[in-house]
Amino acid sequence: MADQLHVYDNVLQLIGNTPLIKLNRITKDFDGDFYAKVEAFNPGHSSKDRIALHILEEAERKGVLKPGDTIIETTSGNTGFSIAMVSIIKGYECILAVSSKSSPDKIDALKAMGAKVYVCPANVSADDPRSYYSVAKRLHEETKGSVYINQYFNESNIDAHFNTTGPEIWNQTNGEITHLIACSGTGGTISGTARFLKSKNPNIKIIGVDAYGSVIQKYHATREFDASEIYPYRIEGLGKNLIPTATDFDVIDSFVKVSDETAAHSAREIAQTEGLFVGYTSGAAIQGLKQLEAEGIFDSNSKVVVIFPDHGSRYMSKVFSDKWMRAQGFFDSEHNEEVQTIEY
Ligand code: PMP
Repeated sequence: MADQLHVYDNVLQLIGNTPLIKLNRITKDFDGDFYAKVEAFNPGHSSKDRIALHILEEAERKGVLKPGDTIIETTSGNTGFSIAMVSIIKGYECILAVSSKSSPDKIDALKAMGAKVYVCPANVSADDPRSYYSVAKRLHEETKGSVYINQYFNESNIDAHFNTTGPEIWNQTNGEITHLIACSGTGGTISGTARFLKSKNPNIKIIGVDAYGSVIQKYHATREFDASEIYPYRIEGLGKNLIPTATDFDVIDSFVKVSDETAAHSAREIAQTEGLFVGYTSGAAIQGLKQLEAEGIFDSNSKVVVIFPDHGSRYMSKVFSDKWMRAQGFFDSEHNEEVQTIEY
């Protein structure tokens, strides 16, 4: 008999078990130890691989999903990419309704993975018939044999991180983690990871990162929906204009809000200090960490884990484009963005 090959059966077997990488330079002046959970190491380059796999396999187990069915979802890009990837391996059709705020690179990537994409206006209310929620709901009603994942209102989103991200971080830190810092969009990542970590040690502090222009932080503080908090902002995948049931507000201790500009500069700084090419919300998470450090919440015993949700390659026409940064007014007049061109 031939020796057993050291291979994976398919790409889905590479989901999860992402590395925890020590931050050495960006936090060098801070008290404590800081580690990044780098979700770009998932095969779909984001944390959303975990929920796509978990939710589709759970639907299969429950008999909700049958071969040849269609998967429908609303997504800022990452969840769509992950669902498209899982759908290919498992043989489902994939239809995605995305926000017009999503970068063109993300939309092209979804199409490359065989998904059918609907681009919907970003700055309309959730119940507007043109919003990506309404479009997805309508497509679900119109498409026979379709399943609507609905990540913002699907508790399985939390379970995916309770089952994987939480235990991984607990084991990787030998249970010594003192603080978790994570961006909150659907809230699935922070809620599931927090539920697991707090079940092991209720003293671990869980801090969410929210965007200016989103209602999430205010809702956490007051448990009231304050529409006056809502205005357009640039960061994709972070914050919300509604309250997702995939967020368990009770396991989150506090939220910190970050601006589009500081998060963008922090994303660029991560690449240049740590050699980690990660996305806009990773910048938001580090920006949140810096603001928390300035408030004096860490000390030399702190072991802080910050989640980096996705890869920088998805933001080449945004945060990692000097032209885009300048157009947003994120560079001062001194900033040098020239490339040396050698003439023939
Ligand atoms: N960062 C990015 C880039 C995302 O796409 C998302 C998901 N919307 C998040 C962070 C937040 O993750 P979660 O939805 O689990 O709160």
